Amino acid sequence: NKYVYDFAEGNKDLKDLLGGKGANLAEMTNLGLPVPPGFTITTEACKAYLATGREPDGLAEQIEAHLESLERGMGRKLGDPDDPLLVSVRSGAKFSMPGMMETVLNVGLNDRSVVGLSRQAGGGTDSAASGGADRFAWDSYRRLIQMFGKTVCEVPGEEFEHAIDEAKRAKGTHNDLDLDADDLRGLVDAYKKIFAKHTGREFPQEPREQLDLAIRAVFESWNAERAVVYRRQERIPADLGTAVNVVAMVFGNLGPDSGTGVAFTRDPASGAQGIYGDYLANAQGEDVVAGIRNTVPLQELERIDKTSYDELLGYMARLEEHYKDLCDIEFTIERGKLWMLQTRVGKRTAAAAFVIAGQLVDEGLIDLDEALHRVNGAQLAQLMFPRFQLDHDFEPVARGIGASPGAAVGKVVFSSGRAVELAAEGEPVILVRRETNPDDLNGMIAAKGILTSRGGKTSHAAVVARGMGKTCVSGADELDVNVPAKKFTVGGHTVGEGDIVSIDGTTGKVYLGEVPVMPSEVVQYFEGTLDPEQTDHPLVRAVHRIMSHADAMRRLRVRTNADTGADAARARRFGAEGIGLCRTEHMFLGDRRELVERLILAATDAEREDSLAALLPLQRADFIEIFRAMDGLPVTVRLIDPPLHEFLPPLEQLAVDVAVAQERGEDVAKEEALLAAVRRMHEENPMLGLRGVRLGLVIPGLFAMQVRAIAEAAVEVVRTGGSACPEIMVPLVGAVQELETVRAEAEKIIAEVVGDSGVEVLIGTMIEVPRAALTAGQIAEAAQFFSFGTNDLTQMAWGFSRDDVEGAFFWRYLELGIFGISPFESIDREGVGRLVRIAAEEGRAARPGLKLGVCGEHGGDPDSVHFFHEVGLDYVSCSPFRVPVARLEAGRATV
Ligand code: ADP
Ligand code: MG
Ligand code: MG
Repeated sequence: NKYVYDFAEGNKDLKDLLGGKGANLAEMTNLGLPVPPGFTITTEACKAYLATGREPDGLAEQIEAHLESLERGMGRKLGDPDDPLLVSVRSGAKFSMPGMMETVLNVGLNDRSVVGLSRQAGGGTDSAASGGADRFAWDSYRRLIQMFGKTVCEVPGEEFEHAIDEAKRAKGTHNDLDLDADDLRGLVDAYKKIFAKHTGREFPQEPREQLDLAIRAVFESWNAERAVVYRRQERIPADLGTAVNVVAMVFGNLGPDSGTGVAFTRDPASGAQGIYGDYLANAQGEDVVAGIRNTVPLQELERIDKTSYDELLGYMARLEEHYKDLCDIEFTIERGKLWMLQTRVGKRTAAAAFVIAGQLVDEGLIDLDEALHRVNGAQLAQLMFPRFQLDHDFEPVARGIGASPGAAVGKVVFSSGRAVELAAEGEPVILVRRETNPDDLNGMIAAKGILTSRGGKTSHAAVVARGMGKTCVSGADELDVNVPAKKFTVGGHTVGEGDIVSIDGTTGKVYLGEVPVMPSEVVQYFEGTLDPEQTDHPLVRAVHRIMSHADAMRRLRVRTNADTGADAARARRFGAEGIGLCRTEHMFLGDRRELVERLILAATDAEREDSLAALLPLQRADFIEIFRAMDGLPVTVRLIDPPLHEFLPPLEQLAVDVAVAQERGEDVAKEEALLAAVRRMHEENPMLGLRGVRLGLVIPGLFAMQVRAIAEAAVEVVRTGGSACPEIMVPLVGAVQELETVRAEAEKIIAEVVGDSGVEVLIGTMIEVPRAALTAGQIAEAAQFFSFGTNDLTQMAWGFSRDDVEGAFFWRYLELGIFGISPFESIDREGVGRLVRIAAEEGRAARPGLKLGVCGEHGGDPDSVHFFHEVGLDYVSCSPFRVPVARLEAGRATV
């Protein structure tokens, strides 16, 4: 088995075997770029090690052979006391993964080779520089002990940091560079003591032992707890393993003519072309990003070292041309000689993703299909959130984790109860907590945004906020939150209840005071108020271009969930091709509640018919408005779904009111009747109770009234020159007999109303009870279309109460990696998805051409859209704001 590859033997397509870093180092080597020589130990070796707990046969020999050839090539031996070769040991899996072991630099240094290194660095230079050489050698050694200790032997990193801070304090400086060779020699001693204290052994002096221990630590870091959890959540297979790269060291810390930096071939924030990056002279490795000294913009390198600068720019152009995408690069300059240490297709912001994809099409590097690959719906959704207008001088006071995007401004409150009170008065509030728990749920619902000082992206606050689509910044740990005192302090400011803050759930930034909010340009474009042909806004033009291609490619239609004419009209501007779900329950609220109450309490048929007759024209008017807004496009109307007692006052409140009134000797006959009805209708499990089609079968005339209102509205629209295509949807069907009964009655009414007006009304059903999915073949005999109600289907398939579980325990499920994302957010392909697949196949088998759609929240979720495309649905339906996301993803699903 070949376990070790020289850089010259690999290429960028071998990521499975060599990991991302190794594959790209090989690619650069073969392109002729100056990569320090080295080799990659494969993921296969890692897997074999993890399976058996020891290095596989032959690995040691192969490492030896490659090390020897590396030594020959460099003319130096690893850790040689007189003239040492040093190497870095770098992890690199197929996907980069937080929690995995990082990198150990300067492997091969010990008490003796540190002297050789100094001589090497000073060789052939004057005495001043050789003083620098001493310093350099001891600095490299202390770095080795620090990195080796921390990442290979799990010595707490703070101990080393303390020691170096101590050394700087003794020297009266804040700058590492002020520590001279003697200081660093002392620091090495201190580090060795720390190492020995925590590991119970001396720092290993044998170079090959250092190398082997580091390699083994990289292998083992594949199973570090954080890495395991991360993989479970992201559904990265657990058996990929990581590769290990062993690379000859080059030194950016050899003096002012050396340095290290990072570069991007385009701006990863905006996508603009240009030169972006940072450079730090006389530094090694992570110093650039660690922020210990101030970096200079990459452009400055032109002044510092023009030869290296020009060379670097040339390589950047080569790499971008070669990878046909934005690349990010790590490089080091050793005494005027440029070395390339890493490249990869770079991460970028949502806006940059679109802009760059558009530019690359313009430059002829990629085609539009490829451009569609390079962007996604989550990015588009991000670009649609309102933004803070930060052109004035607003400085964030803290930065946490952007846990749920959006821009929220409001008065600070510290308790759920206060949030509810103030919100009820119409005040926008931001709920501030150390962390949230299920008791905060009402406050979270009432708040515009949530701000916590603890917890990450999977904390309770973050998970629940995302589920609710609410702006949330979590883990802003600079905030000192004191809930009992109703205040928090940050950077010398004290913020109390009622003070205004602004939080940005995309960037995680927190501002004091009110930052103005503006709609995003992308939304203005979708609204039609920003013409992509007229604007020179690069993002809008790119979005327009890519959306047009998505629309041209996609097979899935995209409808919207809308209950009012206004929502329908907006969704149509966003590209909706009909309504997939028009809920009718809100049509029973407000001042119509009284009519509904009378309907529910009706003692006689006549009373009931009276109230239904009063509701009929109101419903008809609602439908006319919606049909007009969607003129010519299909509108799926769902007959009433929730249990009727939701339209009555709550039991406890009513009982108290009646008791109080009785006490006062008032006449409470009416209230008592109401109370009796509420008691009668009370259900322990309303979600599994008298709702949906069951209501239609139990309350005579209710569905009939709705069907009549729909048919009459359609006829009216057609009569006045419009076009209406109603589809009546029966909710919560579990057995074909239910649907047959409702349908027989409905067809009679429709025939009577429609006459020869030319209006055609379809009758179909929601598939949201698992039994309906499993008997879809039978149900399709009676249904002209299916619409998957994946919210209820998920709720009933998992047995999760949608209204309770997200706040109660999903955080734990996410933490344990039981699922990577709530099944209410993204369809559970294996379980709920399987029900969808069965129903689609069996439904179509029974009724060829059966129209299939989905109307749950999943209709606007990127991954779910791809799934619905795969199983052959005709359309997805989602909230108006999600329509562009669904259009984009439906297009992406085809390329
Ligand atoms: P990460 O995956 O965290 O970027 P790297 O393996 O790239 O880790 O290494 C961390 C830092 O060390 C980077 O700045 C890298 O450029 C630097 N580095 C790695 N190997 C060498 C080397 N052989 N010579 C000089 N610097 C190196
Ligand atoms: Mg790196
Ligand atoms: Mg439902």
